[in-house]
Amino acid sequence: MPRTALDDRTATPRRPHLPLRPLWLCRVCAGPWPCAVARLTLRQEYAHDRIALSIYLCTVLHDAAADLYRLNPHDGPDPTALYVRFLGWAALPDR
Ligand SMILES: [Zn+2]
Repeated sequence: MPRTALDDRTATPRRPHLPLRPLWLCRVCAGPWPCAVARLTLRQEYAHDRIALSIYLCTVLHDAAADLYRLNPHDGPDPTALYVRFLGWAALPDR
């Protein structure tokens, strides 16, 4: 059965997987941000400018590190883990 315009209006709107600061958890799925959906969305948004994606993610990493260390100054996140979480995934080649 084909979907109608009415079906589209009654469907649950999709919410973007954005970070909840200063915890840096996804506002939708509650996973560490960027979650899998956020990573996929970012890859799509920056598909034609991977350098801009890296620059954006560097900025996000800087903000996240400041927030997360401020929240937990004595046992903050591992810098290598932060790098992999926020930036390392984007450096991987497309498969
Ligand atoms: Zn998410």
